[in-house]
Amino acid sequence: MLFNSNQMSEIVHLHDKHFERFISESRIQKAVDQLAKSIYEDIGSDEIPLFVGILNGSFIFAADFVRAYPGDSEISFIKLASYAGMDSTGKVKQLLGLSEDIKDRTVIILEDIIDTGNTLSKIYDTFEKLPVKELKLATLFFKPDVFTKALHIDYIGISIPDKFIVGYGLDYDGLGRNLKDIYQIKENIMKNIVIFGPPGAGKGTQAARLKEHYQLVHISTGDVFRANIKEKTDLGMLAKHYIDKGDLVPDEVTIDMLKAEVEKNPEAKGFLFDGFPRTEKQALALDAFLQAKGTMINAMIALEVPEDELVRRLLERGKISGRTDDQDASKIRYRFKEYERKTAVLKDYYQKQGKYFGINGLGDISEITQLLKEVIDQF
Ligand code: AMP
Repeated sequence: MLFNSNQMSEIVHLHDKHFERFISESRIQKAVDQLAKSIYEDIGSDEIPLFVGILNGSFIFAADFVRAYPGDSEISFIKLASYAGMDSTGKVKQLLGLSEDIKDRTVIILEDIIDTGNTLSKIYDTFEKLPVKELKLATLFFKPDVFTKALHIDYIGISIPDKFIVGYGLDYDGLGRNLKDIYQIKENIMKNIVIFGPPGAGKGTQAARLKEHYQLVHISTGDVFRANIKEKTDLGMLAKHYIDKGDLVPDEVTIDMLKAEVEKNPEAKGFLFDGFPRTEKQALALDAFLQAKGTMINAMIALEVPEDELVRRLLERGKISGRTDDQDASKIRYRFKEYERKTAVLKDYYQKQGKYFGINGLGDISEITQLLKEVIDQF
């Protein structure tokens, strides 16, 4: 059996959005029990009411509700179908599915959620024309801030603020109905950018400017490794061995280090990842890590620069910085090969998600910064 990881998480990811746990299964169950009890007290044991669930959202609520209802009852379901393009408004709505004899019966409409009340009022109008004995409305969730209709709602389970919710039968574009708890949308207020490009493309220079402008935390894995080498930490000693040869530090080591750097900044408005991810494995780990935090990478921006120009820049930098990996042209060319061999797949990885943005990295530094900002400002 496949385990659905969304089923038990604090944060779930559906399509392009994150949702955080909002109302627990046990609280929902209490509200359902209470609704069933109140309705039974009003109707009494002499009558068998007809409950009518509105599909699709109410199917789970209705199933739990009828089992919580202390007396006998009948249940039916209806669906509001829309047909596009058939009248001047472009939409004709029609009720589907009610086959029971409702003459002189107490009918109670079961809604999963009432927000503006638009759908409900159409259903209500249809029912009012029918020869029922009494028509009542019960809803599990209610958004008082947006409800605009004059309808009387007889029974309300839980009132909630005007936030989009999923779970317990409610969906976001088809997904999320199976969740046992209710989740509410989590706005992604962080900006997380990967700045990408071969060694010497100007990532560090541009990152410093962007960090300042957007108040982002800049994490350069190369810088963190170098700081560790300087401090002669265990991590530094391990990394030095690879860095001196122009090889990548193993994924496990780098991923753990990156996570630790992110965790050091719980209040960050976003991160600028520079030099990470460099392999597909790192990209996957980063996505999973950010998803668990209810956020994600918004864009990977690549600085595109021809190789000869890169070698020239790195040799220049090596003279000033003393970086051993920048002082030898053959080592530099080897790093490009490594970059191509392992890192170029990342272009594919982010392109598939519509998050790859290539930028010409040749030219005036400020002009390049401007191009980067134009991409980041979209988020
Ligand atoms: P950089 O300053 O980004 O050019 O990084 C310098 C060196 O640090 C690289 O050549 C790698 O040896 C190592 N390094 C930096 N980031 C990573 C990473 N994400 N994965 C593996 N090794 C890395």
